[in-house]
Amino acid sequence: MKLGILGAGQLGRMLAQAAAQIGVECRFLAPPGETCVQGLGELLQGDLSDDLLLTRFAQGLDAVTYEWENVPAAAVERLSRLVPVRPGARSLRCAQDRVHEKQFFRGCGLAVQAFAPVDAPRDFVPALAGVPLPAMLKTRRMGYDGKGQARIDKPDDLPAAFERLGSVPCILEAFVSFESEISLLGVRAVNAEGREEMRLWSPCRNEHRRGILDRTVSPAVDLPEESLARACAGMAATLSGLDHEGVLCIEFFVSRGRLIANEMAPRVHNSGHWTIEGSQTSQFENHVRAALRMPLGPTESSGVSVLRNLVGDVPVPDATLPASVRLHLYGKSPKVGRKLGHLTAVAQRESDAMSAAQAAFAALNGQPASARG
Ligand code: AMP
Repeated sequence: MKLGILGAGQLGRMLAQAAAQIGVECRFLAPPGETCVQGLGELLQGDLSDDLLLTRFAQGLDAVTYEWENVPAAAVERLSRLVPVRPGARSLRCAQDRVHEKQFFRGCGLAVQAFAPVDAPRDFVPALAGVPLPAMLKTRRMGYDGKGQARIDKPDDLPAAFERLGSVPCILEAFVSFESEISLLGVRAVNAEGREEMRLWSPCRNEHRRGILDRTVSPAVDLPEESLARACAGMAATLSGLDHEGVLCIEFFVSRGRLIANEMAPRVHNSGHWTIEGSQTSQFENHVRAALRMPLGPTESSGVSVLRNLVGDVPVPDATLPASVRLHLYGKSPKVGRKLGHLTAVAQRESDAMSAAQAAFAALNGQPASARG
């Protein structure tokens, strides 16, 4: 089987590594620039609006998937006429617009904070009437890792913030004072008879630093049971409602006993990298399986996993790592704020996984083992 992947970053790299292990070949199509997929398959680079390039890419593929959700929807629609694209354009369109995304979540029974569209200055007054302050103003499209957002503390902040974000369509959403952030990863596949299969991984607790994921622990414990059950049901409804084929990640705030859905990624996600070592089937393998309509693998965890991202600095090359730790480097050149790799520690007890991850993180950053990770 042959899978096409739009994008050639670290997610494409790990998708292709998982694909190779189940005998699937990959071909990549990405805009010009640095990639992380050397040696993992044929790479085409160019303008994704180039019809000839899209046709060349699609030739001989069994399916196409994507590894970043801001992939031009027009390219996906064009490709869909040549080869099945999974997940489909519906998932992409929903995830690319924060207002549609939240409306969709609500329709699937997920709790969401108060929100209102702010597409133009005429929306300031109605939005402020419907959304309590403090609030966050975010661009409806193209935001990631905390970019394209501004905090609104008083009504007068809104016009300036809207202008600062480029006067593009935005969403105003109530600020949630949360105890923690978690994500749920699920996967849905449809078999040849049209029957759907869905699986969830254990929830992950995420910590961010400067807007970038820093640490993920899975399973996240002590979550409010009733609200978690509602979130899992909402995830299933979202997967089915979008007719989604592949992995989907929904990020939640945990606030006063409730899980409040913030956003989704219709693809494999950074908070699920631990599944490579910490689960029976990784998010990458199951995404490939779903894209090619193969049966899914089981998603049970094999212990407690702690994932740390390696951001910005080149890791110390001769660092000695504990035996329970696995290191993934993406082959990127270093730059402030750039994700260069990650490590995962898996153990039966959270404290063991945490200390192994911390020791490895400190060693890779040239710090004494006692330094805070
Ligand atoms: P996002 O791009 O929506 O994932 O937001 C990036 C980060 O900003 C989140 O991980 C939160 O830490 C914070 N954030 C975003 N939206 C809100 C909100 N409505 N209330 C509180 N914090 C938020």
